[in-house]
Amino acid sequence: AKHRGKSAYQRFQPEMKEVSQERLQMESLLRRALEMQEFELHFQPIIRMDDRQLVGAEALLRWESPTLGEVSPDRFIPLAEETGLIISIGRWVLQQACQAVSRWNQEREEPLCMAINVSPRQFRDPHFVETIRAALDESGLGGESLELEITERLILDNNIDTDRVLAELDAMNVRLSVDDFGTGYSALGYIKKYPFDTLKIDKSFIHDMTTKADDSALVRAIIQMAHSLSLQVIAEGVEAPEEFEFLKKENCDYAQGFLFTPPLREDSFITWLNGTMDR
Ligand code: C2E
Ligand code: CA
Ligand code: CA
Ligand code: CA
Repeated sequence: AKHRGKSAYQRFQPEMKEVSQERLQMESLLRRALEMQEFELHFQPIIRMDDRQLVGAEALLRWESPTLGEVSPDRFIPLAEETGLIISIGRWVLQQACQAVSRWNQEREEPLCMAINVSPRQFRDPHFVETIRAALDESGLGGESLELEITERLILDNNIDTDRVLAELDAMNVRLSVDDFGTGYSALGYIKKYPFDTLKIDKSFIHDMTTKADDSALVRAIIQMAHSLSLQVIAEGVEAPEEFEFLKKENCDYAQGFLFTPPLREDSFITWLNGTMDR
């Protein structure tokens, strides 16, 4: 055991160093990514289930680094969060997304709503509400055109300011949704306590829903509970027609996923939007 322990130690050290060097490199590249204009927003349609009409889009951030290539948000968002860079990156996302939906809505009868992911660090920023207000004002949007996706984890990480921030956003008519619903904690009391409009069921439940009895029961229960609290439900990660049919039968309100399209660049999104409207 001693021998194995030693060789494991010897193997482990260089890897540790590599990991932290990789992290440091990514951090320094991430610091410059905003000014180097390496970010782009993609948009994924959100569809109303009863008439299959487009009602909005979720903005999803993409980073194309000349050095690292395309980096997944699952890798760089946590780093941006730890370093605080998410504050300036998040402000950029908010401004870009508001301007995009404002452009789209100029040519539409039924206005679209833009959903944006908010990370805990952004939410805790004392200027957060101000930043939202400025982005709305600058793009001429009403609060109801914006939906902020907030994770369960953030809400339950007890902080007195949560009450005030959510109440201020609610007073601005900004829509509030619980993202990754079901993946966090089991306590549900917060849903009643705060002014949420929407629950977003995580894709991990949607994937197994049509094959595993447990997951289908869970999805059904989430939808019923949400509706009894006057909340609407979005299912994310809908890939198969059977999943859509199941959700529709269970009265889920909205769906989003590869079944319709993956997230798209703005020009492709517009093309997609025009294509589905002509159909
Ligand atoms: P999320 O908020 O849960 O976003 C949904 C993820 O599922 C997205 O991954 C989306 O591309 C992917 N997706 C959509 N439809 C399907 C489907 O049918 N099947 C499968 N397998 N996946 C689907 P993405 O774009 O890689 O983003 C990953 C996460 O990064 C997001 O998870 C969100 O937590 C975070 N993120 C992305 N953009 C931002 C941002 O602007 N700000 C912050 N704070 N977080 C962001
Ligand atoms: Ca989301
Ligand atoms: Ca509200
Ligand atoms: Ca999710």
